[in-house]
Amino acid sequence: MKKIGIMGGTFNPIHIGHLILADRAKDDFGLDEVWIIPTGCSYMKKDIDVLPGEERYHMVLLAAKDKPWMKCLDVEIKHSGYTYSYETLEQLKETYPENEFYFIFGADCLFSIECWKCPERIFDACQVIAAVRNDSSTEEMQQKKIELEQKFGAKIELYSFPRLEISSTELRERIRLGKSVSYMIPEQVISYIAKKGFYKEL
Ligand code: ATP
Ligand code: MG
Repeated sequence: MKKIGIMGGTFNPIHIGHLILADRAKDDFGLDEVWIIPTGCSYMKKDIDVLPGEERYHMVLLAAKDKPWMKCLDVEIKHSGYTYSYETLEQLKETYPENEFYFIFGADCLFSIECWKCPERIFDACQVIAAVRNDSSTEEMQQKKIELEQKFGAKIELYSFPRLEISSTELRERIRLGKSVSYMIPEQVISYIAKKGFYKEL
C-alpha cells in the first residue's frame, strides 16, 4: 500500500510555499509520493488572470521535474469547467484502490470545507493533513478538527508547518510590476513565465 499526499489548488503559478509544504509533509507523514492537481476553471476564482490549466500544469511539471516522488495530475484541467474535490478524490480511490490518500491543505480550509460540495465524501475518500501556521492559535483549529471528526467521521491531522508569507497573488503582482521573484518560484518556472510573458498584464 502506498501513502499518497494530494495537493489541489490553482497553482497560478506554483511557488516554494506549495513545494516546501509538499516536501515536508512527505517526510513528516512518511508519504511515498505527493500528487499535485491543478484545478480546472474554478468557480471560486473568477479572475481573468488565471492562466489556462495546461500552462499551470506545465509549470508544476517543471517544478517537479527532478523529484521522482512528486507528480502532477491533469485530471482536473482536462475537464471543462470546475471539478469538485470529492469527485477527484473518489475517482483516484477507484483507480488506485491499493493507495491511501492524504489531502494536504492550509488549515484555514478546515473552516470552509463544510461549504464545499459533499464534504462527507471528501472525508470518506481520504485523510486530511491540515497545515497550521506555527504561530497561529490552534485552539480554535483543534476544536474544529474534533467537530469535523465527530460530524463526518473524518481523520484530520493538524500539521504544524512554518508557513511562508508568500502567495501566487503576490507573485503575479511582482511579475506584473517587473520585480524579481527569484527564490520564490523555481528558476525553470521563472524562465518559462518570462519566455511566455505571463502575468505581465491583468
Ligand atoms: P492565490 O494567491 O492565487 O490564491 P496561493 O498562493 O494561495 O494562490 P493556491 O493555488 O490557492 O496558492 O493554493 C494551493 C494550496 O497551497 C492550498 O492548499 C493552500 O492552502 C496552500 N498554500 C498556498 N500558499 C501557501 C504557503 N505560502 N505555505 C503553505 N501552503 C500554502
Ligand atoms: Mg490561495
